[in-house]
Amino acid sequence: MARMYYDSDASLDLLNGKTVAIIGYGSQGHAHALNLKDSGVNVIVGLYPGSKSAAKAESAGLKVLPVAEAAKTADWIMILLPDEVQKTVYSQEIAPNLSAGNVLLFAHGFNIHFGQVVPPADVDVVMVAPKGPGHLVRRTYEQGQGVPALFAVYQDATGQARDRAMTYAKGIGGTRAGVLETTFREETETDLFGEQAVLCGGLSELIKAGFETLVNAGYQPELAYFECLHEVKLIVDLVVEGGLATMRDSISNTAEYGDYTRGPRIITDATRAEMKKILSEIQSGQFAREFVLENQAGKPGFIAMRRQEAEHPIEEVGKELRAMFSWLKKA
Ligand code: NAD
Ligand code: MG
Ligand code: MG
Ligand code: MG
Ligand code: MG
Ligand code: MG
Repeated sequence: MARMYYDSDASLDLLNGKTVAIIGYGSQGHAHALNLKDSGVNVIVGLYPGSKSAAKAESAGLKVLPVAEAAKTADWIMILLPDEVQKTVYSQEIAPNLSAGNVLLFAHGFNIHFGQVVPPADVDVVMVAPKGPGHLVRRTYEQGQGVPALFAVYQDATGQARDRAMTYAKGIGGTRAGVLETTFREETETDLFGEQAVLCGGLSELIKAGFETLVNAGYQPELAYFECLHEVKLIVDLVVEGGLATMRDSISNTAEYGDYTRGPRIITDATRAEMKKILSEIQSGQFAREFVLENQAGKPGFIAMRRQEAEHPIEEVGKELRAMFSWLKKA
């Protein structure tokens, strides 16, 4: 079993008298900034002039500076920008403002692992990656808990890089839930594979294929939506709570028998072979190159795919149904 580290394994002392700059105030950024502040850390936020997030950060009591100034002021700099803009912002505004002994932090290894950001040799380069979206990182912290996180050291210039990563993880509440050590390579490759093959790509296609099969066979789209999309959450909650066994314990024997006998016909040897191919495209840098070039070209394919997917009939029927679910409405 991999070793987990908890609150007692890390100390916030390494942050005494230090300033942390959170660059970006989106999903992860707002959660890291507010959690660190509540942990007693001196935090500033770096944003581009005119950012809509600036007012939000300021009204939460945070000091907001332009990215370059924040990077210059801070000793620890956490980059929480979208992965595709990190290279430009880093080279133009952060790199010129780094000093020896600073810590550069990331929440995902993409830009370091694929050589888009190349830090100088005299700064520590570490990762603290919560395994959950920002709103959960914030909400669990406020409840006295935390979201589990990964940490990794890419470059240890000061001899303190590993301890500093654990200190940061403690500051955002990660060590309350437990943190696990990894490498930039392992985090990057597994994160990309998980989101492409299972969590986002695999699941979205599975839901759509099931929905389309029922609708094309003449069933009501509303029923297809319930069976193939809505109930996913109920099943996933059980899986997360107690593994596949707990889920299978809770469903009917009819469903359980269908699971064992039909599931393997959906995820076939061809699917597994394709998963392996997707993994090797990640490992070879082919996916990274494609994503970087797509962004450099102004995202033409990305924007077209986003529009086409938003027009899928499952989104239409979903919008109508969800409007009727009083229990889904946000408080
Ligand atoms: P996000 O898109 O929610 O927020 C990005 C922030 O950067 C926003 O405040 C945006 O206004 C700002 N921004 C965009 N362009 C900018 C620019 N040119 N200059 C200055 N600021 C700019 O991003 P996110 O989802 O929080 O992701 C941040 C990092 O965290 C990424 O490396 C991501 O892989 C990682 N991560 C995200 C999650 C998640 O669940 N969202 C989980 C783990 C790790
Ligand atoms: Mg998005
Ligand atoms: Mg992930
Ligand atoms: Mg990811
Ligand atoms: Mg059912
Ligand atoms: Mg059962």
